[in-house]
Amino acid sequence: MSSQQSAYELLIERWGEAMTLASANAALAWDQETYMPAKAAEARAEQTSLLAKLVHERRTDPEITQLLDSCDPSEESEEAATVREIRRDHEQASRVPASLVSELARAGSHAQEAWKKARAENNFSAFVPHLERVFELTRQKAECMRTEAHREVYDALLDEYEPGATAAQIEAVFNPLREKLSAIVARAKGASRRPDSSVLDEPVGSDVQHAFGLHVLGACGFDLEAGRLDVTTHPFCEGLAAGDTRLTTRYHDDRWSDALYGTMHEMGHGLYEQGLPKSTKWGSPLAEAVSLGIHESQSRLWENLVGRSEAFWVWALPELSSRYGGRVSEATVESMTRAVNTCEPSLIRVEADEGTYNLHVMIRFELERAMIRKDLSVADLPGAWNERYRELLGVEVPDDARGCLQDVHWSFGLVGYFPTYTLGNLYACQMWEAMSRDLSPAELVAKGDFAPLLSWLRERVHVHGRRYGAAELCERATGEALSAEPLLRHLDRIVRESYSA
Ligand code: ZN
Repeated sequence: MSSQQSAYELLIERWGEAMTLASANAALAWDQETYMPAKAAEARAEQTSLLAKLVHERRTDPEITQLLDSCDPSEESEEAATVREIRRDHEQASRVPASLVSELARAGSHAQEAWKKARAENNFSAFVPHLERVFELTRQKAECMRTEAHREVYDALLDEYEPGATAAQIEAVFNPLREKLSAIVARAKGASRRPDSSVLDEPVGSDVQHAFGLHVLGACGFDLEAGRLDVTTHPFCEGLAAGDTRLTTRYHDDRWSDALYGTMHEMGHGLYEQGLPKSTKWGSPLAEAVSLGIHESQSRLWENLVGRSEAFWVWALPELSSRYGGRVSEATVESMTRAVNTCEPSLIRVEADEGTYNLHVMIRFELERAMIRKDLSVADLPGAWNERYRELLGVEVPDDARGCLQDVHWSFGLVGYFPTYTLGNLYACQMWEAMSRDLSPAELVAKGDFAPLLSWLRERVHVHGRRYGAAELCERATGEALSAEPLLRHLDRIVRESYSA
């Protein structure tokens, strides 16, 4: 420490060390999901547990409290936002004992391996003790983090991913939305004309799919010299640091569209990560994503609003048909657009279409909230899951691998995370409508000119990091408070155009 350093500079330096340690841990998590040999699981659990403990120690260091108290930034400045957000994280972390943090990290690492095995073998009962342990520790963590602002324990968990949101608010958005979505799904079900999606089943080798994925990433502005695309069981994006954003995807030889849209989804997350000012503001929360809901809005915007539009197919189809051949080369822009815009109930959330996706999310929100409240036991999860799928989506779940074992989240203790997916869909549609008032996205996308879209998002969303809260950022970017109407208008149009309904 030099004597010239101000309390603020020192705070950024100390907080930056915690961010660097956390990014090293994230690199290990990425490795665990991609290349780590199975026998490394035991050692990896120790590594991630120790790193999580070190990050926690740095974030809760009493020196941080002193530095925060010594900072005196002028109101409304970037410094003020930085101090506000570090104080929030510092206080939140300080409420959780280090022993619980490392215990949760270790249990999560073991549970994740157990989940992979249980899912592959369709054996939920082997996963039960792990999931019980993770839920028990997560509940303990939530009890520690809970403040007067949290009306129920679950709110403390939600607050980690979507700062300021509460279960009651989410419920107030979800309940009317559920009815309107069910009505849209019912309209599609009763339609006389249905989209033919058989072109998506054309067998395409994964290397050919991978090459096309890279082509799309490059065209949309993802910097491949500052990122990678790899293969994993459960696709994700990890923005590790400045110049290092990892995307993962998965390939099914008989359903090429899953990988294309999975890749575009993670690309949207990756473009946000690459747009955050990490190289200039590392150590400040202004270099971090504001909330998972806003993060998801970026992935959904590229996946759905761009990737499933007619304009996208004007640009993409010639290249795709020359690479994929077979039935793909016989498709027209119109037939392809209809093929990728369906509204059909299904079993798997990550592969669900836009019309039904949010219903999958609502089921998870309801069940995890019930498990945190102890209204539902882990052992009873499969029954409750299958019943909700029958009621809400009208599908029979044939086995737990395609039921309650399909998502990785709970094995890590990521509880309170799912609702942010639906918030992301709402934000994405609202941003798209706002962008459409400023630009002509369809004309640009049809020409493959994605740069103006990315610039719009960079300016209004990415560069701000956590300067504003999610709700305020949404209002600044779109001119309005968050509303479900843009999503409903978007889904209504899809069903009208694809189904003549
Ligand atoms: Zn996502």
